Amino acid sequence: MKPVIIMMAMAVVSQLIIGCSPLRWENLPKPQTEVPVLIEEFDGLTRRAAPIIRKLVKNRPVPVTLIQVYSTRFHKLPTKEQIAISYRCGPGEPPKPYGCILIKDTVLKELSDVALTGLLAHELGHIELGHRTTPTASQLRTTEFDADDAAIARLTDAGYCGGPVMRQTFLELIKLTPGAGGGFTGERFARTLNTPCALSLP
Ligand SMILES: [Zn+2]
Repeated sequence: MKPVIIMMAMAVVSQLIIGCSPLRWENLPKPQTEVPVLIEEFDGLTRRAAPIIRKLVKNRPVPVTLIQVYSTRFHKLPTKEQIAISYRCGPGEPPKPYGCILIKDTVLKELSDVALTGLLAHELGHIELGHRTTPTASQLRTTEFDADDAAIARLTDAGYCGGPVMRQTFLELIKLTPGAGGGFTGERFARTLNTPCALSLP
């Protein structure tokens, strides 16, 4: 085979591999509600998040053995448009099933309690669904929509009115970080309109 054809074939194969990388971790532990929540020592910004996470996990389990929360005072986010990410962060390879949530420090300072609750419910949605980091735009779109749906279910289980909480979250995040939410926050906002709720905001 000519070198050019070999290179083209390799490019197609690598594209296929990237396109087909698994969306989810396998062999996650049994979901549980009694999960310890750790905040970074000296990181006062994350203190507000811990009781909210405990409330959100109490009635809807997550498949991790520990949740750790950090602000960007201590760890950098991969890109400047990102406002928060969640990932498997335990030691070892494959990593132990800890769930880490990393949140931009300005977001932790500025978000209202309602919007922070929505943001954390979304990140817990990624953890609940065992999402890995997503390399392609179409995978990102799918995982964001799925995490929003899981967030609304989690908020509802915790006694909140899921749709309005998520809409408040999107509105505040767009003000703080234009371009947040993968560039399709408008679409994500519209999806929450299909979740009517008789309860008022918490
Ligand atoms: Zn997300």
